[in-house]
Amino acid sequence: MKIIEKILKFKDLLLDGLYPDKFKCILCGKDLNCDGFFCEQCLENKEDEIFNIGHKCQICDMKIKNDNKICDHCKDKLSHKSLYFKKCFCPLNYSRKVRSAILKLKSDNGKFLVKPFSKLIVNRLNDEKDLNIDFVTFVPSHKKTIKKRGYNQSKLLAEEISSLLNIPLIETLEKNVLTKTQKNLDYTTRQENLRDSMRLLIDKNLIKDKNILLVDDIVTTGATVNTCANLLSKAKNVYVCAIARNQIN
Ligand SMILES: [Zn+2]
Ligand SMILES: [Zn+2]
Repeated sequence: MKIIEKILKFKDLLLDGLYPDKFKCILCGKDLNCDGFFCEQCLENKEDEIFNIGHKCQICDMKIKNDNKICDHCKDKLSHKSLYFKKCFCPLNYSRKVRSAILKLKSDNGKFLVKPFSKLIVNRLNDEKDLNIDFVTFVPSHKKTIKKRGYNQSKLLAEEISSLLNIPLIETLEKNVLTKTQKNLDYTTRQENLRDSMRLLIDKNLIKDKNILLVDDIVTTGATVNTCANLLSKAKNVYVCAIARNQIN
């Protein structure tokens, strides 16, 4: 390990000790009196806004207004046999406050958010009965993005989730083509952009018949995780988890 890496690691350990994440509100950073994730002010009358709760699609975890069990988008993809993941779990709703907390996670001083966000995801996964995961993997970032940011936030979340669940982490995918910013694009355009931008890093036989948990930070339209799940389609099941779900497809 280079001396500079050692110093940075020491700085992280020191900051972890000085600022234990469990005592800070995820959304506003305010100190909490007890163990938890949010302060009272942030939560007050805003549970619906912050948490991804209520009647939701059984596959993509998006809120649905009618009584259907599966949203129209997933139904359409199922009928075209182009839905590659089994089920998605996102504890939070991608609302304004959650969005700024996730943006903070993507900047270097927001790394302390990895632990509480991962705990929220694991709590959500633990609510699910009969979920047997063989290994955890994550949505890859292009090396230029990682160089710019210093890390891939989905990988950091996956490492923490893997350790909390005591399930191995395997890096399975690589992003070898830098795609344009995806956030303002519709589903079809996203899929087109993503096609051929990623590849499988490991032998297909290693994922054969496995139950895989794929970690991302946000599920916006589901195009990214669906493309990843397609590359992992030799698996028995690909489950998806992320911090937050955007409520549009
Ligand atoms: Zn707060
Ligand atoms: Zn759906």
